[in-house]
Amino acid sequence: MSLQGKTAVITGSNSGIGLGVARELARAGADVVINSFTDRDEDHQLAADIAKEFGVTARYIKADLSKGAEARALIEQAGKCDILVNNAGIQHVSPIEDFPVEKWDAIIAIMLTSAFHTTAVALPMMRKAGWGRVVNIASAHGLTASPYKSAYVSAKHGVVGLTKVTALETAKEDITVNAICPGYVKTPLVEAQIPDTAKEYDMTEEEVIEKVILARQPSKEFATVEQIGGTAVFLCSDAAAQITGTTISVDGGWTAL
Ligand code: NAD
Repeated sequence: MSLQGKTAVITGSNSGIGLGVARELARAGADVVINSFTDRDEDHQLAADIAKEFGVTARYIKADLSKGAEARALIEQAGKCDILVNNAGIQHVSPIEDFPVEKWDAIIAIMLTSAFHTTAVALPMMRKAGWGRVVNIASAHGLTASPYKSAYVSAKHGVVGLTKVTALETAKEDITVNAICPGYVKTPLVEAQIPDTAKEYDMTEEEVIEKVILARQPSKEFATVEQIGGTAVFLCSDAAAQITGTTISVDGGWTAL
């Protein structure tokens, strides 16, 4: 599978799943744009390391995706976007009545509204190129719910809805639009939840992983960022050209329960 000559923009890709997806797309030959809101030396270094390791062009572009104008500018600055991976995300856990409004707004903006903005700018580029792939990183929480994650679950269900609409609007073109729904993947986003949960349940961190986090994942294993990246590469392949408007779960059986 070669993605040589294709440019992939991966939002929120200086860490975790986004970085894993960027690396697998680069391994398959795609030029990549790495993004985050941080603009640190190490973010630029990550892009340089990917370019060196896989022999592709890799650039870092800063954009704070909580702001619609910056989400649009990210794709405009990339100049070309054959593969768009909407991945950036944050989490906040709280009962609805105490859920801070600014956290609700940030989660919806970064995970759902930014995908609308990037897609709106990327689709004309894909149409011009005559080929395109949109891969939205949703979640098992795009298909099912958990208490105290109102904003996250709402945003991810929204991403699945946006995926279906975008697929219908592009169905007659060589453009596919799908969502990957990971179960738990051990990344900084998940690791950050472990200490608080341990305190809340009076458990060790190992017990939290086994009895709380992986309780809903029948395989009892975390998915890996390489597996999510490999799924994205598959969705960009010719074998997946008729797969559009759907979700692929990488969740160790979670949504089969
Ligand atoms: P992570 O914390 O490692 O990465 C999040 C990324 O989003 C980072 O690159 C960060 O810089 C970026 N980001 C956050 N706010 C941003 C902003 N305002 N502007 C630009 N970039 C921003 O987390 P992760 O686990 O790799 O999560 C990546 C995606 O995968 C998220 O959408 C998350 O919901 C989804 N997901 C994760 C899991 C999991 O178990 N880790 C499971 C299902 C879905």
